[in-house]
Amino acid sequence: MDRIVFLGTGGARNVMTSQVLSTGGFILEIKKTLLSVDPGPGAVLRAAQEKIDISRLDGVLISHRHLDHCGDVNVMIEAMTRGGFKKKGMVFAPRQALKDDPVVLNYLRNYVGNIQPIEGLKLYRCSDLEFKTSMPHKHGDAETYGFIFYGDDYTLSYIPDTGYFNKLSEFYRSDISIISTLMLRRNKNVDHLSVPDVISLIKEHKPRAAILTHFGMQIYKAGVDIVADKISQATGIKAIAAKDGLVINLKELLTSDS
Ligand SMILES: [Zn+2]
Repeated sequence: MDRIVFLGTGGARNVMTSQVLSTGGFILEIKKTLLSVDPGPGAVLRAAQEKIDISRLDGVLISHRHLDHCGDVNVMIEAMTRGGFKKKGMVFAPRQALKDDPVVLNYLRNYVGNIQPIEGLKLYRCSDLEFKTSMPHKHGDAETYGFIFYGDDYTLSYIPDTGYFNKLSEFYRSDISIISTLMLRRNKNVDHLSVPDVISLIKEHKPRAAILTHFGMQIYKAGVDIVADKISQATGIKAIAAKDGLVINLKELLTSDS
């Protein structure tokens, strides 16, 4: 079964350090490939709570080197490689996260089958799962990419942290879109998507369903379901607020809307 398991739905400093929402990113299982995406703090704990065997991971994928996206990457690598006793799996991350100010510890790098620096607009493969990177996002000085994953007969996009820019919707056309919805209101000084940005984006790229995650404190306080309802009403497209521990069966989601 192709699915997403949310190990966390929080983002940004205040939510990460208070853990009012967990910040473990999510696990993707598509075409029998198990991938940990943006394992921020809490990913390992949450995986254990959700009974996901992370020693089965085929890869770890990091969109950028901010802590709420990679705090648990090293423990994930330990788990994936059984503490280095089984050299396997892949780690994908922007060059900045591997070289300039690395987030993957050197002594763990030999444990991994392959460490792959990612660049914009390229195709990559982890076991049977292919994915494409986006153009560089607008996210301060953090080298950041989003992704389109190719299922059998559908596409799934993941739009991590970015300020809004025009080309986003063109790239992210897909059947299902996971969108980092960090801020309630627009603030042009902050490179993050706000609710009005997410509404514009969904109206433009028209996914069949949108899954919102990576909520900041304002959205947490406003109520994530209330925000998702507002986005659904404004766009006419089903928007689901992810919850810590939520499991989404991707094919079921696509059949339930037709
Ligand atoms: Zn970030």
